Amino acid sequence: MPTDPSVYPFELAAILADRLRGAKQELVTQWLERITARVAISSKRVFPTHELLNHVPLLIEGIAGYLKRPERDIDDKAPVVAKAMELGALRHSQGFDAYELLKEYEMLATIIFAFLADTAETIPGDYPRRDFLVCWERLGQAMELIRQATVSHFLRLSSAQINERENRLRKFNRTVAHELKNNVSAITAASTALAEEWVDPSEKKEFEDIIARNAESLQRVLENLESLSRTQADSRHCRNVLLPEAATEAVRELEDAAKAKGVNVRVADDLPPIEVDAAVVELCLMNYVSNSIKYSDEAKPERWVSIAATVEGPDTEHDREIVIRVSDNGIGIPADRRQQLFQEFYRAHDDTVTDAAGTGLGLSIVRETVESIGGRAWAEFPAGDGSVFAFSVPSRRREDIAALKETPETAKEGR
Ligand code: ADP
Repeated sequence: MPTDPSVYPFELAAILADRLRGAKQELVTQWLERITARVAISSKRVFPTHELLNHVPLLIEGIAGYLKRPERDIDDKAPVVAKAMELGALRHSQGFDAYELLKEYEMLATIIFAFLADTAETIPGDYPRRDFLVCWERLGQAMELIRQATVSHFLRLSSAQINERENRLRKFNRTVAHELKNNVSAITAASTALAEEWVDPSEKKEFEDIIARNAESLQRVLENLESLSRTQADSRHCRNVLLPEAATEAVRELEDAAKAKGVNVRVADDLPPIEVDAAVVELCLMNYVSNSIKYSDEAKPERWVSIAATVEGPDTEHDREIVIRVSDNGIGIPADRRQQLFQEFYRAHDDTVTDAAGTGLGLSIVRETVESIGGRAWAEFPAGDGSVFAFSVPSRRREDIAALKETPETAKEGR
Protein backbone atom coordinates (compact mmCIF):
# COMPACT_ATOMS: atom_id res chain seq x y z
CA MET A 1 0.00 0.00 0.00
CA PRO A 2 1.61 3.32 -1.02
CA THR A 3 2.34 5.61 1.90
CA ASP A 4 0.70 9.05 2.14
CA PRO A 5 3.19 11.38 0.28
CA SER A 6 2.05 14.46 2.20
CA VAL A 7 3.65 13.16 5.41
CA TYR A 8 6.52 11.22 3.87
CA PRO A 9 10.10 12.18 4.85
CA PHE A 10 11.49 12.09 1.30
CA GLU A 11 14.91 13.45 2.13
CA LEU A 12 15.70 11.06 4.96
CA ALA A 13 14.22 8.11 3.04
CA ALA A 14 16.49 8.91 0.07
CA ILE A 15 19.58 9.01 2.27
CA LEU A 16 18.76 5.70 3.94
CA ALA A 17 17.90 4.08 0.62
CA ASP A 18 21.21 5.18 -0.90
CA ARG A 19 23.18 3.85 2.05
CA LEU A 20 21.31 0.55 1.77
CA ARG A 21 22.14 0.35 -1.92
CA GLY A 22 25.76 1.17 -1.28
CA ALA A 23 26.10 -1.65 1.26
CA LYS A 24 24.13 -4.28 -0.60
CA GLN A 25 27.06 -6.57 -1.45
CA GLU A 26 28.27 -6.54 2.12
CA LEU A 27 24.74 -7.29 3.41
CA VAL A 28 24.31 -10.13 0.94
CA THR A 29 27.59 -11.67 2.05
CA GLN A 30 26.52 -11.51 5.69
CA TRP A 31 23.19 -13.12 4.84
CA LEU A 32 24.82 -15.86 2.81
CA GLU A 33 27.18 -16.67 5.67
CA ARG A 34 24.40 -16.88 8.20
CA ILE A 35 22.17 -19.07 6.02
CA THR A 36 25.04 -21.41 5.29
CA ALA A 37 25.92 -21.77 8.96
CA ARG A 38 22.33 -22.39 9.91
CA VAL A 39 21.24 -25.07 7.49
CA ALA A 40 24.57 -26.82 7.04
CA ILE A 41 24.48 -26.75 3.28
CA SER A 42 27.33 -25.49 1.16
CA SER A 43 27.36 -21.83 0.19
CA LYS A 44 27.34 -23.03 -3.42
CA ARG A 45 23.87 -24.41 -2.85
CA VAL A 46 22.44 -21.45 -0.96
CA PHE A 47 22.32 -19.58 -4.26
CA PRO A 48 23.68 -22.17 -6.67
CA THR A 49 23.72 -20.12 -9.87
CA HIS A 50 25.23 -16.74 -10.63
CA GLU A 51 21.83 -15.65 -11.72
CA LEU A 52 20.31 -16.37 -8.33
CA LEU A 53 23.23 -14.91 -6.47
CA ASN A 54 22.71 -11.76 -8.52
CA HIS A 55 19.07 -11.74 -7.48
CA VAL A 56 19.81 -11.16 -3.82
CA PRO A 57 21.31 -7.70 -4.26
CA LEU A 58 18.26 -7.01 -6.41
CA LEU A 59 16.03 -7.84 -3.45
CA ILE A 60 17.88 -5.20 -1.45
CA GLU A 61 17.64 -2.78 -4.41
CA GLY A 62 13.90 -3.42 -4.44
CA ILE A 63 13.63 -2.67 -0.73
CA ALA A 64 15.67 0.53 -1.15
CA GLY A 65 13.52 1.63 -4.12
CA TYR A 66 10.37 1.03 -2.13
CA LEU A 67 11.75 3.18 0.71
CA LYS A 68 12.78 6.04 -1.57
CA ARG A 69 9.53 6.20 -3.52
CA PRO A 70 6.41 6.12 -1.36
CA GLU A 71 4.19 6.00 -4.45
CA ARG A 72 5.71 2.68 -5.48
CA ASP A 73 3.80 -0.51 -4.74
CA ILE A 74 5.22 -4.00 -4.48
CA ASP A 75 2.79 -6.11 -6.47
CA ASP A 76 2.95 -9.09 -8.81
CA LYS A 77 4.43 -6.96 -11.56
CA ALA A 78 7.39 -5.65 -9.56
CA PRO A 79 10.69 -7.24 -10.68
CA VAL A 80 11.65 -7.72 -7.03
CA VAL A 81 8.60 -9.97 -6.56
CA ALA A 82 9.70 -12.18 -9.45
CA LYS A 83 13.12 -12.57 -7.79
CA ALA A 84 11.51 -13.34 -4.44
CA MET A 85 9.36 -16.02 -6.08
CA GLU A 86 12.41 -17.59 -7.69
CA LEU A 87 13.97 -17.84 -4.28
CA GLY A 88 10.82 -19.65 -3.09
CA ALA A 89 11.07 -22.07 -6.03
CA LEU A 90 14.73 -22.74 -5.34
CA ARG A 91 14.16 -23.49 -1.66
CA HIS A 92 11.24 -25.73 -2.56
CA SER A 93 13.38 -27.74 -4.95
CA GLN A 94 16.00 -28.08 -2.20
CA GLY A 95 13.46 -29.61 0.19
CA PHE A 96 13.44 -26.75 2.73
CA ASP A 97 10.40 -26.33 4.91
CA ALA A 98 8.44 -23.10 5.32
CA TYR A 99 9.94 -22.52 8.75
CA GLU A 100 13.49 -22.51 7.37
CA LEU A 101 12.44 -20.07 4.69
CA LEU A 102 10.87 -17.72 7.22
CA LYS A 103 14.03 -17.98 9.30
CA GLU A 104 16.11 -16.86 6.29
CA TYR A 105 14.01 -13.76 5.95
CA GLU A 106 14.18 -13.09 9.66
CA MET A 107 17.98 -13.13 9.32
CA LEU A 108 17.85 -10.78 6.33
CA ALA A 109 15.63 -8.37 8.27
CA THR A 110 17.97 -8.52 11.28
CA ILE A 111 20.96 -7.73 9.07
CA ILE A 112 19.24 -4.86 7.25
CA PHE A 113 17.84 -3.29 10.40
CA ALA A 114 21.16 -3.61 12.26
CA PHE A 115 22.93 -1.91 9.36
CA LEU A 116 20.39 0.90 9.24
CA ALA A 117 20.45 1.39 12.99
CA ASP A 118 24.22 2.00 12.77
CA THR A 119 23.77 4.19 9.70
CA ALA A 120 21.12 6.30 11.44
CA GLU A 121 23.75 7.37 13.95
CA THR A 122 25.93 8.83 11.21
CA ILE A 123 23.31 10.78 9.27
CA PRO A 124 24.01 14.50 9.36
CA GLY A 125 21.18 16.93 10.05
CA ASP A 126 18.49 16.87 12.62
CA TYR A 127 15.63 14.78 11.30
CA PRO A 128 12.64 14.35 13.60
CA ARG A 129 12.40 10.94 15.25
CA ARG A 130 9.00 10.56 13.67
CA ASP A 131 10.63 10.61 10.21
CA PHE A 132 12.87 7.73 11.19
CA LEU A 133 9.88 5.76 12.36
CA VAL A 134 8.01 6.39 9.11
CA CYS A 135 11.02 5.11 7.17
CA TRP A 136 11.27 2.08 9.45
CA GLU A 137 7.61 1.28 8.90
CA ARG A 138 8.05 1.51 5.14
CA LEU A 139 11.09 -0.78 5.28
CA GLY A 140 9.18 -3.26 7.40
CA GLN A 141 6.40 -3.30 4.79
CA ALA A 142 8.86 -3.90 1.97
CA MET A 143 10.44 -6.82 3.81
CA GLU A 144 7.04 -8.25 4.58
CA LEU A 145 5.83 -8.06 0.97
CA ILE A 146 8.94 -9.75 -0.34
CA ARG A 147 8.68 -12.45 2.29
CA GLN A 148 5.04 -13.01 1.35
CA ALA A 149 5.95 -13.33 -2.34
CA THR A 150 8.62 -15.95 -1.57
CA VAL A 151 6.59 -17.93 0.93
CA SER A 152 3.32 -17.93 -0.98
CA HIS A 153 5.09 -19.15 -4.11
CA PHE A 154 6.85 -21.80 -2.02
CA LEU A 155 3.50 -22.94 -0.56
CA ARG A 156 1.89 -23.06 -4.01
CA LEU A 157 4.63 -25.38 -5.21
CA SER A 158 4.37 -27.52 -2.06
CA SER A 159 0.67 -27.95 -2.51
CA ALA A 160 1.16 -28.95 -6.17
CA GLN A 161 3.70 -31.51 -4.99
CA ILE A 162 1.26 -32.93 -2.44
CA ASN A 163 -1.38 -33.26 -5.17
CA GLU A 164 1.09 -35.05 -7.37
CA ARG A 165 1.99 -37.42 -4.56
CA GLU A 166 -1.65 -38.10 -3.85
CA ASN A 167 -2.17 -38.98 -7.51
CA ARG A 168 0.80 -41.33 -7.40
CA LEU A 169 -0.57 -43.03 -4.30
CA ARG A 170 -3.97 -43.37 -5.95
CA LYS A 171 -2.32 -45.01 -8.95
CA PHE A 172 -0.39 -47.29 -6.59
CA ASN A 173 -3.65 -48.27 -4.86
CA ARG A 174 -5.27 -49.01 -8.22
CA THR A 175 -2.37 -51.22 -9.29
CA VAL A 176 -2.37 -53.10 -6.00
CA ALA A 177 -6.17 -53.50 -6.00
CA HIS A 178 -5.96 -54.88 -9.54
CA GLU A 179 -3.35 -57.43 -8.48
CA LEU A 180 -5.38 -58.49 -5.45
CA LYS A 181 -8.47 -58.84 -7.63
CA ASN A 182 -6.57 -61.12 -10.01
CA ASN A 183 -5.56 -63.36 -7.09
CA VAL A 184 -9.08 -63.49 -5.72
CA SER A 185 -10.60 -64.23 -9.15
CA ALA A 186 -8.13 -67.08 -9.70
CA ILE A 187 -8.97 -68.56 -6.28
CA THR A 188 -12.72 -68.25 -6.88
CA ALA A 189 -12.52 -69.82 -10.34
CA ALA A 190 -10.32 -72.70 -9.15
CA SER A 191 -12.48 -73.46 -6.11
CA THR A 192 -15.65 -73.42 -8.22
CA ALA A 193 -14.02 -75.83 -10.64
CA LEU A 194 -12.95 -78.08 -7.76
CA ALA A 195 -16.56 -78.50 -6.71
CA GLU A 196 -17.50 -79.85 -10.15
CA GLU A 197 -18.01 -83.57 -10.39
CA TRP A 198 -16.32 -83.93 -13.79
CA VAL A 199 -12.90 -82.89 -12.42
CA ASP A 200 -10.46 -85.78 -12.48
CA PRO A 201 -7.76 -86.19 -9.78
CA SER A 202 -4.86 -84.78 -11.87
CA GLU A 203 -6.85 -81.62 -12.66
CA LYS A 204 -7.88 -81.40 -9.02
CA LYS A 205 -4.24 -81.13 -8.01
CA GLU A 206 -3.72 -78.36 -10.55
CA PHE A 207 -6.66 -76.35 -9.19
CA GLU A 208 -5.43 -76.82 -5.64
CA ASP A 209 -2.02 -75.49 -6.67
CA ILE A 210 -3.64 -72.45 -8.25
CA ILE A 211 -5.50 -71.75 -5.02
CA ALA A 212 -2.37 -72.17 -2.89
CA ARG A 213 -0.21 -69.98 -5.19
CA ASN A 214 -2.71 -67.16 -5.32
CA ALA A 215 -3.43 -67.30 -1.59
CA GLU A 216 0.32 -67.02 -0.91
CA SER A 217 0.60 -64.07 -3.27
CA LEU A 218 -2.37 -62.40 -1.54
CA GLN A 219 -0.69 -62.92 1.77
CA ARG A 220 2.60 -61.37 0.62
CA VAL A 221 0.98 -58.32 -0.96
CA LEU A 222 -1.02 -57.79 2.22
CA GLU A 223 2.15 -58.07 4.31
CA ASN A 224 3.84 -55.46 2.11
CA LEU A 225 0.89 -53.13 2.47
CA GLU A 226 0.87 -53.66 6.20
CA SER A 227 4.55 -52.73 6.48
CA LEU A 228 3.94 -49.60 4.39
CA SER A 229 1.07 -48.44 6.59
CA ARG A 230 3.13 -49.19 9.69
CA THR A 231 5.85 -46.78 8.53
CA GLN A 232 3.32 -44.07 7.87
CA ALA A 233 1.81 -44.48 11.33
CA ASP A 234 5.26 -44.68 12.98
CA SER A 235 6.51 -41.63 11.07
CA ARG A 236 3.79 -39.55 12.61
CA HIS A 237 5.20 -40.41 16.01
CA CYS A 238 8.66 -40.01 14.51
CA ARG A 239 10.59 -42.54 16.55
CA ASN A 240 14.22 -41.61 16.01
CA VAL A 241 17.09 -44.00 16.64
CA LEU A 242 20.77 -43.96 15.85
CA LEU A 243 21.57 -45.46 12.46
CA PRO A 244 23.73 -48.33 13.85
CA GLU A 245 20.79 -49.38 16.07
CA ALA A 246 18.35 -49.35 13.14
CA ALA A 247 20.75 -51.50 11.11
CA THR A 248 21.23 -53.98 13.97
CA GLU A 249 17.48 -54.27 14.41
CA ALA A 250 16.87 -54.95 10.70
CA VAL A 251 19.60 -57.61 10.67
CA ARG A 252 18.22 -59.23 13.81
CA GLU A 253 14.79 -59.54 12.20
CA LEU A 254 16.29 -61.31 9.21
CA GLU A 255 18.66 -63.61 11.11
CA ASP A 256 16.66 -66.79 10.46
CA ALA A 257 16.17 -66.10 6.77
CA ALA A 258 19.93 -65.43 6.36
CA LYS A 259 20.83 -68.61 8.21
CA ALA A 260 18.45 -70.69 6.11
CA LYS A 261 20.16 -69.51 2.91
CA GLY A 262 23.69 -69.60 4.35
CA VAL A 263 24.20 -65.86 3.87
CA ASN A 264 26.51 -63.88 6.12
CA VAL A 265 25.08 -60.42 6.87
CA ARG A 266 27.70 -57.84 7.89
CA VAL A 267 27.16 -54.36 9.26
CA ALA A 268 30.08 -51.93 8.83
CA ASP A 269 31.38 -50.85 12.22
CA ASP A 270 31.77 -47.22 11.18
CA LEU A 271 28.11 -46.44 10.47
CA PRO A 272 27.70 -42.72 11.33
CA PRO A 273 25.98 -42.36 14.73
CA ILE A 274 23.29 -40.09 13.33
CA GLU A 275 19.65 -40.06 14.36
CA VAL A 276 17.31 -41.43 11.69
CA ASP A 277 13.60 -42.10 11.38
CA ALA A 278 13.49 -45.67 12.74
CA ALA A 279 10.42 -46.81 10.81
CA VAL A 280 11.66 -45.59 7.44
CA VAL A 281 15.23 -46.81 7.74
CA GLU A 282 14.27 -50.21 9.15
CA LEU A 283 11.68 -50.75 6.41
CA CYS A 284 14.18 -49.90 3.67
CA LEU A 285 16.96 -51.99 5.15
CA MET A 286 14.66 -54.96 5.72
CA ASN A 287 13.54 -54.84 2.09
CA TYR A 288 17.04 -54.50 0.66
CA VAL A 289 18.68 -57.06 2.93
CA SER A 290 15.89 -59.62 2.52
CA ASN A 291 16.24 -59.24 -1.27
CA SER A 292 19.99 -59.78 -1.02
CA ILE A 293 19.32 -62.97 0.93
CA LYS A 294 16.58 -64.08 -1.44
CA TYR A 295 18.62 -63.44 -4.58
CA SER A 296 21.88 -64.83 -3.20
CA ASP A 297 23.94 -67.00 -5.51
CA GLU A 298 23.85 -70.67 -4.51
CA ALA A 299 26.87 -71.33 -6.70
CA LYS A 300 29.13 -69.17 -4.53
CA PRO A 301 30.87 -70.90 -1.62
CA GLU A 302 30.61 -67.74 0.48
CA ARG A 303 27.49 -65.66 0.26
CA TRP A 304 27.43 -62.24 1.91
CA VAL A 305 25.44 -59.02 2.30
CA SER A 306 26.98 -55.89 3.70
CA ILE A 307 25.41 -52.69 5.06
CA ALA A 308 27.50 -49.51 4.93
CA ALA A 309 26.73 -45.82 5.15
CA THR A 310 28.41 -42.49 4.50
CA VAL A 311 27.45 -38.88 4.82
CA GLU A 312 27.70 -37.33 1.38
CA GLY A 313 27.41 -33.82 -0.03
CA PRO A 314 26.51 -31.13 0.00
CA ASP A 315 27.33 -30.70 -3.65
CA THR A 316 25.74 -28.86 -6.49
CA GLU A 317 23.08 -31.53 -6.97
CA HIS A 318 22.17 -32.65 -3.48
CA ASP A 319 22.15 -31.36 0.05
CA ARG A 320 23.95 -33.24 2.78
CA GLU A 321 22.51 -36.72 3.04
CA ILE A 322 23.17 -40.03 4.70
CA VAL A 323 23.61 -42.64 2.00
CA ILE A 324 23.02 -46.22 3.07
CA ARG A 325 24.20 -48.98 0.76
CA VAL A 326 23.36 -52.67 0.87
CA SER A 327 25.81 -54.66 -1.27
CA ASP A 328 25.78 -58.36 -2.00
CA ASN A 329 27.55 -60.98 -4.07
CA GLY A 330 24.25 -62.43 -5.26
CA ILE A 331 22.94 -63.24 -8.72
CA GLY A 332 22.91 -59.57 -9.84
CA ILE A 333 20.46 -58.03 -12.30
CA PRO A 334 20.69 -58.50 -16.08
CA ALA A 335 21.56 -55.20 -17.79
CA ASP A 336 18.33 -55.11 -19.81
CA ARG A 337 16.17 -55.35 -16.66
CA ARG A 338 17.65 -52.60 -14.54
CA GLN A 339 15.55 -49.72 -15.75
CA GLN A 340 12.23 -50.92 -14.35
CA LEU A 341 13.49 -52.27 -11.01
CA PHE A 342 11.60 -49.80 -8.81
CA GLN A 343 8.27 -50.12 -10.65
CA GLU A 344 5.34 -51.73 -8.85
CA PHE A 345 5.09 -55.49 -9.40
CA TYR A 346 8.19 -55.63 -11.57
CA ARG A 347 10.24 -58.78 -11.01
CA ALA A 348 13.55 -59.04 -12.84
CA HIS A 349 14.02 -62.79 -12.34
CA ASP A 350 10.47 -64.02 -12.83
CA ASP A 351 11.51 -66.41 -15.58
CA THR A 352 14.95 -67.41 -14.27
CA VAL A 353 14.53 -67.79 -10.50
CA THR A 354 11.34 -69.61 -9.81
CA ASP A 355 11.80 -70.43 -6.14
CA ALA A 356 12.13 -66.83 -4.85
CA ALA A 357 8.74 -65.86 -3.51
CA GLY A 358 7.91 -62.19 -3.98
CA THR A 359 5.44 -59.63 -5.22
CA GLY A 360 7.63 -57.06 -6.97
CA LEU A 361 6.31 -54.45 -4.53
CA GLY A 362 9.25 -54.17 -2.11
CA LEU A 363 11.45 -51.77 -4.08
CA SER A 364 8.57 -49.48 -5.05
CA ILE A 365 7.56 -49.29 -1.39
CA VAL A 366 11.15 -48.39 -0.44
CA ARG A 367 11.23 -45.60 -3.02
CA GLU A 368 7.82 -44.26 -2.03
CA THR A 369 8.76 -44.29 1.64
CA VAL A 370 12.14 -42.52 1.42
CA GLU A 371 10.83 -39.97 -1.05
CA SER A 372 8.12 -39.08 1.44
CA ILE A 373 10.83 -37.82 3.80
CA GLY A 374 12.91 -36.09 1.12
CA GLY A 375 15.29 -38.96 0.37
CA ARG A 376 16.03 -41.06 -2.73
CA ALA A 377 16.33 -44.74 -3.60
CA TRP A 378 18.34 -46.28 -6.42
CA ALA A 379 20.46 -49.24 -7.50
CA GLU A 380 24.10 -49.24 -8.55
CA PHE A 381 25.61 -51.88 -10.76
CA PRO A 382 29.19 -52.64 -9.88
CA ALA A 383 31.42 -54.25 -12.47
CA GLY A 384 31.71 -57.93 -11.63
CA ASP A 385 28.90 -59.69 -9.83
CA GLY A 386 26.32 -58.88 -7.20
CA SER A 387 24.32 -55.71 -6.74
CA VAL A 388 24.22 -52.57 -4.66
CA PHE A 389 20.93 -51.06 -3.55
CA ALA A 390 21.12 -47.63 -1.95
CA PHE A 391 18.85 -45.08 -0.34
CA SER A 392 19.47 -41.70 1.18
CA VAL A 393 17.84 -39.59 3.85
CA PRO A 394 18.46 -35.86 4.22
CA SER A 395 20.87 -34.79 6.93
CA ARG A 396 20.60 -31.06 7.30
CA ARG A 397 20.58 -30.82 11.07
CA ARG A 398 23.45 -29.29 13.00
CA GLU A 399 23.33 -32.17 15.50
CA ASP A 400 24.36 -34.54 12.69
CA ILE A 401 27.58 -32.66 12.12
CA ALA A 402 28.27 -32.59 15.84
CA ALA A 403 27.63 -36.35 16.06
CA LEU A 404 30.08 -37.00 13.24
CA LYS A 405 32.77 -34.90 14.85
CA GLU A 406 32.47 -36.99 17.98
CA THR A 407 33.63 -40.18 16.31
CA PRO A 408 37.41 -40.38 16.09
CA GLU A 409 37.07 -42.54 12.94
CA THR A 410 35.26 -39.88 10.94
CA ALA A 411 37.39 -37.09 12.30
CA LYS A 412 40.43 -39.02 11.09
CA GLU A 413 38.96 -39.32 7.63
CA GLY A 414 38.29 -35.60 7.62
CA ARG A 415 34.62 -35.86 6.68
P1 ADP B 1 10.26 -59.05 -4.95
O1 ADP B 1 9.10 -59.25 -4.06
O2 ADP B 1 10.10 -59.71 -6.29
O3 ADP B 1 11.56 -59.41 -4.32
P2 ADP B 1 11.13 -56.27 -5.08
O4 ADP B 1 10.36 -55.07 -5.51
O5 ADP B 1 11.72 -56.29 -3.72
O6 ADP B 1 10.19 -57.51 -5.30
O7 ADP B 1 12.31 -56.45 -6.12
C1 ADP B 1 12.01 -56.39 -7.52
C2 ADP B 1 12.93 -57.30 -8.29
O8 ADP B 1 14.28 -56.77 -8.26
C3 ADP B 1 13.07 -58.70 -7.73
O9 ADP B 1 11.99 -59.52 -8.19
C4 ADP B 1 14.43 -59.12 -8.26
O10 ADP B 1 14.30 -59.58 -9.59
C5 ADP B 1 15.22 -57.82 -8.30
N1 ADP B 1 16.11 -57.67 -7.11
C6 ADP B 1 15.87 -56.96 -6.01
N2 ADP B 1 16.92 -57.02 -5.15
C7 ADP B 1 17.85 -57.81 -5.74
C8 ADP B 1 19.16 -58.24 -5.36
N3 ADP B 1 19.75 -57.88 -4.21
N4 ADP B 1 19.83 -59.05 -6.24
C9 ADP B 1 19.26 -59.40 -7.42
N5 ADP B 1 18.03 -59.00 -7.82
C10 ADP B 1 17.33 -58.22 -6.99
